[in-house]
Amino acid sequence: MQDTSPPNAIRRVVIAGGGTAGWMVAALMSKLMGRQLDIRLVESEEIGTVGVGEATIPALHLFHEMLGINEAEFMSATQATFKLGIRFEGWHSPGVDYIHSFGKTGKDHWSADFQHFWLAAQRRGLARPYGDYCLEHRACETQRFGHAPDNGLNYAYHLDASRYASFLRGMSERAGVTRVEGKIREVEQAPSGDIAALRMENGTRVEGDLFIDCTGFRALLIGQTLGVPYEDWRHWLPCDRAVAVQTRTVREAPPFTRAIAHPFGWQWRIPLQHRVGNGLVYSSQALSDAEAPGTLLRHVEGDALMQPRVIQFQPGQRTRVWERNCIAVGLSSGFIEPLESTSIHLIQRAAIRLLRLFPTDALRAVDIQEFNRQTAHDLADIRDFIILHYHVTQRDDSEFWRHVRHMAIPETLQHRIELFAQTGRVFRPADGLFAENSWVQVLMGQGVMPTAYHPVADRMGQAELSAFLGGIRDDLERRLQRMPKHQDYVQRYCKAAPPDAHRPSPQPVPQGELAQHAPA
Ligand SMILES: Cc1cc2nc3c(=O)[nH]c(=O)nc-3n(C[C@H](O)[C@H](O)[C@H](O)COP(=O)(O)OP(=O)(O)OC[C@H]3O[C@@H](n4cnc5c(N)ncnc54)[C@H](O)[C@@H]3O)c2cc1C
Repeated sequence: MQDTSPPNAIRRVVIAGGGTAGWMVAALMSKLMGRQLDIRLVESEEIGTVGVGEATIPALHLFHEMLGINEAEFMSATQATFKLGIRFEGWHSPGVDYIHSFGKTGKDHWSADFQHFWLAAQRRGLARPYGDYCLEHRACETQRFGHAPDNGLNYAYHLDASRYASFLRGMSERAGVTRVEGKIREVEQAPSGDIAALRMENGTRVEGDLFIDCTGFRALLIGQTLGVPYEDWRHWLPCDRAVAVQTRTVREAPPFTRAIAHPFGWQWRIPLQHRVGNGLVYSSQALSDAEAPGTLLRHVEGDALMQPRVIQFQPGQRTRVWERNCIAVGLSSGFIEPLESTSIHLIQRAAIRLLRLFPTDALRAVDIQEFNRQTAHDLADIRDFIILHYHVTQRDDSEFWRHVRHMAIPETLQHRIELFAQTGRVFRPADGLFAENSWVQVLMGQGVMPTAYHPVADRMGQAELSAFLGGIRDDLERRLQRMPKHQDYVQRYCKAAPPDAHRPSPQPVPQGELAQHAPA
């Protein structure tokens, strides 16, 4: 058949890197454009993946719907559990915890969100804790879980990152993606400056029209080859290291991630079916890489299944994620930090955005500008939300917390904090990831209590306000009582095969490779 495609048509897509980013892009692209494109993914088993990134947010459902993924099958394949939120322990001050749940709290009125009515009730001594009016919050506290239609919970997952990449790889290969194993030795550029091919260590060349850089922190294409600069955000987000270890499970998996504050940063605990993922996220100014593994091991439960490994990172963003015929997705495009688990979501957003702006007939500057504009907008919104957690702490027990508490913050964030503190109001910007209720939970959870609220709340009399709050709570407690325990639900719904039947967990990255983990 005669080829009628335009001369500059994009037909050969090369994805460099097979971590979560590479395989998410491959899965979506092959599902939706597999017939028009020749998609190849290059990865190196020897180099491996970053091996972390196991907590998600509810928007992942959309991605799975697009791929037609069966939930129970996916959860079983990735040893996943359900996640209804994050418990922030000691972020307000040592010993004080709160939960940022994914649910809706209470009921809003067209003129004012629920927190205004709750604040009015609190002033009159009628309110229970804010989280008592949110089903997901209560389900976290009581470790329960259930599916719609009975319960209608807003949830995400904890998943094994390497198994998730394997799961997506299987889907992608069945949809026609060709996997190329081996190390990329060199990235070849055409005289125009565009990327022409990846030259592999065994001497073969992988040519393409469009290259997706999913090589992680190495950023082989976008950073090392095309030299797109990286904007450093350490002045707002001082954590630049993590140390991670997997441990044996010693208790029932709760349906939430734990984020535990320490004097030098914070610690995550992510419960999976077959193990627990643990890590410290710290500032290299506050804790040394030599001390970090031992410190982590003193704060985990259960035997360690591997040696802890240190990962260096630089919070920030690539100033342009699409440059010439190369698009960076995943860690090569930037990394804020793991708090609030937004990186996998950003990969999802990038993959969907790429399909919406796909340069089918030719590369156009306007598409590239639009892609870069939307990406920068997403990152700034999430960045502000993450900085919020550090900045509004009441902690004063270390130099690390005193610094983040008093540091200068972006104006956009300063405005949102002041608006809330003075009026109780929060507005979600267009396309903003975190809804108003997320901001309210973190702000109040960390001690920012508004001095005023919307006057509409005072139009409710004592009895009416009390009945309003009581009705919400009775309804959700009834629904809660019908929910099984999370652990039992997981066992019945998506019990995974014994871990030995799967690939072993990722191997520790040799210490000598640490330097390569800083953004190029
Ligand atoms: C400490 C930490 C905790 C995190 N926690 C979360 C979380 O809870 N939730 C979340 O959403 N995100 C989290 N993230 C982010 C998440 O891990 C990443 O977004 C996700 O794993 C995607 O990584 P990636 O695919 O971009 O890179 P990688 O996993 O590093 O993959 C890079 C790929 O490129 C290949 N490659 C590199 N160089 C070459 C070469 N020369 N030749 C051939 N192949 C090559 C590698 O083999 C690999 O396949 C966390 C990140 C860190 C650092």
